[in-house]
Amino acid sequence: MWHDFHAQLDELAEKAQQRKLYEADSDGCFVWLDGKKLFNLASNNYLGLANDERLIEASIRAARTYGAGATASRLIVGNFSLYTEAEAALAEWKGSEAALIVNSGYTANVGILSAIAGRDTVIFSDKWNHASIVDGAILSRAEVKRYRHNDIDHLEALLQKTDKQKRKIIVTDTVFSMDGDIAPLAELVRLKETYGALLVVDEAHASGVYGEKGEGLVHHLNIAEQVDIHMGTFSKALGAFGAYVAGKKVLIDYLINHMRSFIFTTALPPAALGAICAAVAVVQEAHDRRRQLHELSVYFRTRLQALGFDTGPSITQIVPVIVGENDRAVQFSRRLQERGIAAVAIRPPTVPEGTARIRFSLMATMTKEQLDWALVEIAEVGKEMKVIS
Ligand code: PMP
Repeated sequence: MWHDFHAQLDELAEKAQQRKLYEADSDGCFVWLDGKKLFNLASNNYLGLANDERLIEASIRAARTYGAGATASRLIVGNFSLYTEAEAALAEWKGSEAALIVNSGYTANVGILSAIAGRDTVIFSDKWNHASIVDGAILSRAEVKRYRHNDIDHLEALLQKTDKQKRKIIVTDTVFSMDGDIAPLAELVRLKETYGALLVVDEAHASGVYGEKGEGLVHHLNIAEQVDIHMGTFSKALGAFGAYVAGKKVLIDYLINHMRSFIFTTALPPAALGAICAAVAVVQEAHDRRRQLHELSVYFRTRLQALGFDTGPSITQIVPVIVGENDRAVQFSRRLQERGIAAVAIRPPTVPEGTARIRFSLMATMTKEQLDWALVEIAEVGKEMKVIS
């Protein structure tokens, strides 16, 4: 019976698609992979908050007060008073009536979609939405219509063809994690209003990064109130772990009663919740870090483009360098690793065939000097491999 599993793994290895786990040990801008210290251009710790003393201290305090584990789901006895504090602060930050903390971004998306959609629903999902949205849509048993990436006309054509009586849900990442581009959110709001759909946004890569207080991209664009369901994670720019859903009180009450990934799982460990509380406060004041991250992103991307690299449609802190075939991306990432840089090769099916890439992500705590050094190394690998001339 294991023969089939071996065969499938061999097939992935042949296509340079097999994934491996590295041992990581991070102190922010550097990471140790398999014993080697590397400059970390692969992290989602965009603001460097995972290493912030205020979060670490809050984590320790919460563990000392409440213990190492939550011991039960929130609906049983896992709902510490810290949740009340954290969710009130979260709702205020997001400017929403209510908010709910859940265990991860993955379980948030799977849980939200499977709770609010059913057989009578049509979910309109961007083709490049995160896997957790894809999985949530499947689990909901709704009809799923995937529209071409960021293609408003395609989405509108699909909406037009859909039975008016059905519940309609449009769902999108705000910042896409593989191209570092953003969704046409104002247009999505227009469509959701025209066709009476609910709009769900995944701010995983925008929370903490966009908005005056890091609330997210829809706040930055001044359309937060028109969005029905805001989801985001604490695991990236906020430097902690877990995720949130924000919206109307009726939505949050509904999810508490129907969201299976919330109901049937043990609550977050108190240490994670402590870090979340601190992160929600710290992120609102992190103006300098946000500015630094945006400046570094523009600098890094324009320098890569000037060297001749294809950075796709990226306009955020996520900057891909598209190299084409899978084995080239794997080779590129290995050579970077030999030169002291951690950056992951991303291959199909995560991205379209023929667009395998190195995905760089930046942190506010990096310096221009560090990036200059990395750019020299990246350029040399690019030339060795004839990705640039
Ligand atoms: N949504 C998006 C767009 C993501 O990139 C991710 C994480 N890669 C998630 C959801 C899942 O979040 P978490 O890591 O907190 O489970």
